[in-house]
Amino acid sequence: MTTLASRAGRGLLLWSIPEPVSVGARSLSWNARRSTATKLAERTYTAESKGKFVEDLHLWQSSKMITLKEKPLAGKMGLVLGIANEHSLAYGCAEAFRAMGAELAITYRNDKTKTYVEPLAKELQAEIFLRCDVQEPGHLEAVFEALSKNWGKLDFALHAIAFAPKEDLHGRLADSSREGFLTAMDISCHSFIRMARLAEPLMQDGGALFTLSYYGAEKVVEHYNLMGPVKAALESAVRYLAYEFGPKGIRVHAISPGPVKTRAASGIDHFDELLEGAASRAPVKSLVGIEDVGMATACLATDYAKLITGETVYVDGGYHIVG
Ligand code: NAD
Repeated sequence: MTTLASRAGRGLLLWSIPEPVSVGARSLSWNARRSTATKLAERTYTAESKGKFVEDLHLWQSSKMITLKEKPLAGKMGLVLGIANEHSLAYGCAEAFRAMGAELAITYRNDKTKTYVEPLAKELQAEIFLRCDVQEPGHLEAVFEALSKNWGKLDFALHAIAFAPKEDLHGRLADSSREGFLTAMDISCHSFIRMARLAEPLMQDGGALFTLSYYGAEKVVEHYNLMGPVKAALESAVRYLAYEFGPKGIRVHAISPGPVKTRAASGIDHFDELLEGAASRAPVKSLVGIEDVGMATACLATDYAKLITGETVYVDGGYHIVG
């Protein structure tokens, strides 16, 4: 007979059960018994009430069992900014969110991109489809008004937007113009902060915010030029937002994919060389696809990842670990 006096919950629990306590085929270790004692703190068990203890234990254990949902984002509402076409990283993410059961709101930048985005939004059964140029006053606000009116809440939002004027992107950082740098910062970084601020009141039950970054934020990558410091600012903004929103259960991440051939990527000089280098240097020896980025991001949007926040998550086949 072992007697454990443990202070747990509302009072002192006199714990008195024979050792070892067998539950089915398993014997409970001291630690398991102590933690069970905490959970069943309001009750007192004696050697005579061992049967009742085992019964309660089973009930408690079954309520604690991990159950996997077939569609872990079912019932969740998400916003996706940044689909330009079927090659966009945002589209890969939207597909994964939808496959995991989420309802989506999708935006397009202008009438030209609408032609490509609309069929994708239809395929994804997007409930909300709106124009949003983050540089146009009122556009982001209108999107969030629509989310509030239609859904009354938001569970996650993806910002997959970047831009830098060509003349600045193709030159040295040292030669970048003030206007070019500010434009790149505004579209690629500050619009994420604005999105986060607008999302906050709709995330009363917590949520997840994502933006897309690149390794060039951390290390010098040839030809990435002024986007390096812009993405570095974005990754830092992620950490500060994660700190500020953490108490509300709102998580914030930067997803950092390896190079993927998209429209935005075609603006970077010598991008094909970057692709070749990535495939040969990454430990997994393969390039990343938009579906890989999508699945990783969607996993982080689920409640299974509810205690992960403020990260720059590399989806690059391990490229960033190689020195
Ligand atoms: P993409 O061209 O498919 O997407 C870029 C999107 O930004 C487009 O939908 C475009 O319409 C949008 N955009 C630009 N200016 C905008 C504005 N003012 N308002 C609203 N939308 C605007 O290219 P992508 O590669 O999928 O880019 C998505 C994100 O992924 C970017 O942040 C990019 O830096 C990042 N990223 C890309 C790679 C890559 O290799 N492709 C790697 C790492 C990170």
